[in-house]
Amino acid sequence: MAQGGRLRDPTENPNKLHDRKLDAFSGKQNLAQHRKSLPIASVEKRLMDEVRHNDTLIIVGETGSGKTTQLPQFLFNAGFCRDGKTIGITQPRRVAAVTVAKRVAEECGVELGQRVGYSIRFEDATSISTRIKYMTDGLLLREALLDPYLSRYSVIIVDEAHERTVHTDVLLGLLKNIQRARSKSFNDRVNIEKNKENNGTLSDKDNGVFLKQCQSRKFPPLKLIIMSASLDARGFSEYFGGARAVHVQGRQFPVDTFYTHHAEPDYLDAALITIFQIHLEEGPGDILVFLTGQEEIESVERLVKERLQQLPEGSRKLLTVPIFSALPSEKQMRAFRHAPAGFRKVILATNIAETSVTIPGIKYVIDPGLVKARSYDPVKGMESLIIVPISKSQALQRSGRAGREGSGKCFRLYPESEFDKLEDSTKPEIKRCNLSNVILQLKALGVDDILGFDFMDKPSRASIVKSLEQLFLLGALTDECKLSDPVGRQMAQLPLDPVYSRALILASQFNCLEEMLITVAMLSVESIFYGPREKLEEARTAMRRFSSPEGDHLSLVNVYHASDELLDKRMVGLSKEKKDKILSKWCKENFINSRSLRHARDIHSQIRGHVEQMGLRVASCGDDMLQFRRCLAASFFLNAALRQPEGTYRALASGQVVQIHPSSVLFRAKPECIVFNELVQTNHKYIRNISRIDYLWLSELAPHYYCTQN
Ligand code: ADP
Ligand code: MG
Repeated sequence: MAQGGRLRDPTENPNKLHDRKLDAFSGKQNLAQHRKSLPIASVEKRLMDEVRHNDTLIIVGETGSGKTTQLPQFLFNAGFCRDGKTIGITQPRRVAAVTVAKRVAEECGVELGQRVGYSIRFEDATSISTRIKYMTDGLLLREALLDPYLSRYSVIIVDEAHERTVHTDVLLGLLKNIQRARSKSFNDRVNIEKNKENNGTLSDKDNGVFLKQCQSRKFPPLKLIIMSASLDARGFSEYFGGARAVHVQGRQFPVDTFYTHHAEPDYLDAALITIFQIHLEEGPGDILVFLTGQEEIESVERLVKERLQQLPEGSRKLLTVPIFSALPSEKQMRAFRHAPAGFRKVILATNIAETSVTIPGIKYVIDPGLVKARSYDPVKGMESLIIVPISKSQALQRSGRAGREGSGKCFRLYPESEFDKLEDSTKPEIKRCNLSNVILQLKALGVDDILGFDFMDKPSRASIVKSLEQLFLLGALTDECKLSDPVGRQMAQLPLDPVYSRALILASQFNCLEEMLITVAMLSVESIFYGPREKLEEARTAMRRFSSPEGDHLSLVNVYHASDELLDKRMVGLSKEKKDKILSKWCKENFINSRSLRHARDIHSQIRGHVEQMGLRVASCGDDMLQFRRCLAASFFLNAALRQPEGTYRALASGQVVQIHPSSVLFRAKPECIVFNELVQTNHKYIRNISRIDYLWLSELAPHYYCTQN
């Protein structure tokens, strides 16, 4: 590793800066003060020097030190956007890209989407004048498809690199290549230019001036900055050929950590009890609870509200604020707002609040020690979502959230002996996920030798081979493992999982693209229906109104159509707010998650745009459900399952024994043969989003798989 630097302002007194209460929300003056008080502010000049002198720089700094919000502004002010170039900052999470962009726009005093903007899948808030662009790492990968040199960017910051999401890892490899290619093309172009302008003859002095000019004006090389909250920068530095790493000193107040005596059988209940214990017994300060997903957050939110009603009037001053990625962006910002006077805020967050976003005001952290993660079995070719224990470094990051502005407390909802058993750090996602999506993108980018690609951590050969095989079975690759034309190319253009892209392409042939677009949009959000424990019967009755005997896919289509009808019939000439209100009310009556439905409607219009642009025919199969189910079978044949005598199912491709999730409309009907979309592992292996198909269709519609198999 290159020599590391520790940047710190010697005059800084960490405690003093926090003597005054910072209110980030009242006016420009305070914003400016807040910016100045961040640890990174005192090393601005030195950081900019480092960037000027190093094409690749690794910046390590504690969460909350100001890396994500400040560094792009420093770069902008230091002239890195000259000649219309853009600074790109990638985030593993949508929420972070959106909330941070909003914050930075506010700090810069500009309208969001102008100088400062963001771009995430299905949502773009940028314009030609955008110079600081926050985006997801996945989105930048897609941009590389259209602009292989990422030529509009002068600097790319890969933020939250310690998270090691699969997109971050692929991006790192790609950026390394792009940087090299841009330097080479820079040298070539300098020579050409030199020949053109001066017949290649320049004195040494003029040559130097000329080079400088090219560098700053004409074809600037790509600056890469890798930012991470984890203290170990060695891995990144080695990967980038001994790149320089600098540390930004943060501030951390002491945090008292508490453990439970015994393992908690129900961590949601334990979290709930702890929330109220803090609320009733501890001093002021907001609470941050780490949960594993939208469903959990929403159920805890309901339970908190209910229990509040049972408290005496005066102690009801608790405000729940959820934050997760599918939350509409205006709602995400609520987490950053101060609670009304006298109220305590309890933020119910996914892993997003671990390092990606820093929410001010947190004094108490409740950590069940779990996270929802992807897990992949390359032998069976099955990816699933699974709730697993976090790593030690994650546990430390989480407790650190309580000590940002003063001393705090962290309540770990597991015994101390369990902490000792946790892994030190999290395994990179690339080692535990299905790779077909990234392989498809790499192929589309012209990277044919996937096994030889320079990954920071190589995925196993078995999982690369399995994913290649899957892409081949979906028709995206030829016998020679090249991207097929047009199918593979079209699939790579769609911002969807390859299986869903394939389904859309097939649906245009089956004349049911209208229905499949809805299905894919509805499957892209967490869950459309919700059934609170205490109103389960009511919720089930409501769900029956939409349920189709054919399965969950058609039930989802029914919900969508019903919402269409509502919007068409009752809403001509109404304002957006009024429409939103009516839709929310209707959702509530029908136990439909209005956030998810709205999100799905958004996604729908976006992918509809994509397929229309690609020239696919958007037609409806009308009442011909057979046609639609045949298309589902043709699309999802890799996830077909057969009923077994005892009522469980055997997945045909993997041989795994699975069960229909109780939330499926086919839970009781248990048809003989089905296709499904999702495998969730709790104490059982549950499959979700299921449709009934005819067993014989498999060999008819996917003969390349089922005839050779049997
Ligand atoms: P880092 O990237 O080093 O973790 P950030 O740049 O994200 O740090 O955050 C710096 C500071 O800005 C934190 O104190 C945080 O509370 C504040 N901050 C960030 N985003 C927002 C926001 N949307 N609203 C209010 N404060 C914010
Ligand atoms: Mg950050």
